[in-house]
Amino acid sequence: MFCAIVAGRAPASIVYRDRVALAFMDVNPVRPGHVLVIPTAHRAQIWDLDEAESAAVSRRLPALAAALKAATAADAVTIFGLNGKAAGQTVFHVHFHLVPVHADDPLLRRRGRRVTFRLVLRRASRAQLDTLARRIRARLAQPLTLTADRHSLASGSRRSGLRDVRGA
Ligand SMILES: [Zn+2]
Repeated sequence: MFCAIVAGRAPASIVYRDRVALAFMDVNPVRPGHVLVIPTAHRAQIWDLDEAESAAVSRRLPALAAALKAATAADAVTIFGLNGKAAGQTVFHVHFHLVPVHADDPLLRRRGRRVTFRLVLRRASRAQLDTLARRIRARLAQPLTLTADRHSLASGSRRSGLRDVRGA
């Protein structure tokens, strides 16, 4: 399923892609802006990634989470992964969920020692997903466009580990 997206054989609203990592909008978002980040290589679960693969995916998370937070004007971003059927995993290509959270609509509720993590899958049209993906991509690109010269642009790009994907 996700391999088909990597190969371009299945539709997806792409937020970011490079050789090793791909980020796209979840088609059943628990909040508008729900992003999935995956390795481009097929690995079923997190323990199937070697350290280099894991690092290659993980190093994209800070910039993606920051762009997501800015693009959705969220107060917080929840990041989680479900590894194994018993954990609730339904697509067996490892993926990290990045979910923007607003203070007035929390994902996680605490009542004393009772902590409830409540996820409701919502419907979203491809047009809505594309719009959100475009907004997040614009935020990813922003630090690059703010830099004045080519040298700082290049170092900014290296620092974030993300290239400008506008128009990708
Ligand atoms: Zn796969």
